[in-house]
Amino acid sequence: MTQERTLSIIKPDATRRNLIGKIITKLEDGGLKVVAQKKIQLTQEMAKEFYEVHKDRPFYNDLVNFMISGPVVVQVLEGENAVLKNREIMGATNPDEAKPGTIRKEFAESLEANSVHGSDSIDNAKIEVSFFFDDEEIVG
Ligand code: ADP
Ligand code: MG
Repeated sequence: MTQERTLSIIKPDATRRNLIGKIITKLEDGGLKVVAQKKIQLTQEMAKEFYEVHKDRPFYNDLVNFMISGPVVVQVLEGENAVLKNREIMGATNPDEAKPGTIRKEFAESLEANSVHGSDSIDNAKIEVSFFFDDEEIVG
């Protein structure tokens, strides 16, 4: 049994439509536990840095503008194989390709406005968790 932590973000399209609770319910029902959480407004600088890995992709500027278009909920999820488990519950990046019952299938508006972010590896989860949270803010 591998207990892991991963970073989850409820994106502006979902906070705007009052879907925070429905999304967290899916994460909790999937066995993940929220061990840190805050609702924040990202600055352009933060969004650019967070998504820097995509800086050469054609969708980068639009993605940054979307991520600052309203508040987000950033949260740390903990559980067995939490990184992969969160990605499974989220569904594919493109909601048209996401499996039934996943967050993106049920709630995403588009490929860009796809309701949630989740770290894609254990190493990136550590980097992304520390981008938003100090150790003392995470309570198992
Ligand atoms: P994921 O969020 O599933 O890890 P990526 O890391 O590939 O996906 O992309 C980051 C985010 O950028 C996506 O969640 C989505 O909001 C946006 N995005 C990805 N690909 C595209 C695209 N082709 N057009 C517009 N937005 C995109
Ligand atoms: Mg990604």
